Amino acid sequence: MRFAGTTVVVVLATVVVVAVVACEPLELHAAAAQANAATVVSSPPNLSNRILCPPPPVRELSQVARGDRRAPHYPAARMEALDEIATWLRAARHIVVLSGAGISTESGIPDFRGPNGIWTKDPAAEKAANIEFYVSDPVLRARTWQNRMRSEIWQAEPNVGHRALAELEQRAHVDALLTQNIDGLHQAAGSTAELVVELHGNVREAKCLGCGWRGPMAETLDRVRAGETDPRCVECGGILKSATISFGEALVAADLERAQQAAQHCDVFLAVGTSLGVYPAAALPEIALRHGARLVVMNAEPTPFDPHAHAVVRAPLGVALPAIVERI
Ligand SMILES: [Zn+2]
Repeated sequence: MRFAGTTVVVVLATVVVVAVVACEPLELHAAAAQANAATVVSSPPNLSNRILCPPPPVRELSQVARGDRRAPHYPAARMEALDEIATWLRAARHIVVLSGAGISTESGIPDFRGPNGIWTKDPAAEKAANIEFYVSDPVLRARTWQNRMRSEIWQAEPNVGHRALAELEQRAHVDALLTQNIDGLHQAAGSTAELVVELHGNVREAKCLGCGWRGPMAETLDRVRAGETDPRCVECGGILKSATISFGEALVAADLERAQQAAQHCDVFLAVGTSLGVYPAAALPEIALRHGARLVVMNAEPTPFDPHAHAVVRAPLGVALPAIVERI
């Protein structure tokens, strides 16, 4: 249900071209961008051609977490690193958080490509997240409405990770909470709605692909329960779907602009539970780095940004996020 993907791709190629010796080039990022490449509608504002060359990571926790020789020191090393991250957050005037599916898996919402991911277990379900297939296949739509009706998302509740990010607002200066998630759990946890930018839309509403009508998802799901297999727009008869961004759909330009501006002006960028592999969301930490922010990556799996991050945390978010926030 969490449809990642977009036709909007931020141009990074110019940055790669000017790679300088001793800096880690950004081929990985560019490759990821090209993999998703389609229409370019927006570039990061005021990006110079300076090559990305941040300091090396202050703490690399992943090796420790994987059980190498430093394993016996893991708790101490972890806590020391969390102290340092907390210090950065305490001193920051402009914090930006980017969250992905990883923070909601602890609320029982499966991610997409993880070991228990929706698409890993049911590759056909990925088709439903592609707008072309969705529009052209009424059988697929009918199946998708049934899946929406039964989704774990309706029973999900925010977890300690969500609540820690809400608490972060109280203890530090959070400018924006950018999320790739569509579940609304940040707001449910108490994060200020005005600070949350839902880059991939949300499931609380249904939208018409014809006229742009929007209405509560609950009402449309009631129609499905009442027997409509493929409910149509009450205004124009057009195709309905959740108000999420599917593959092939453009992000909302105003949301993307707001996210880029926030990334550009932050001094700490905290990426939590996201693989940072889907553009343009994945361009946001890069914008932050280019403008001098510290980057903290908290994700169970490695990300392309780990070599550029000032700290990488592999511990479960439900453990690490509260531990950091209570240290602020
Ligand atoms: Zn309509």
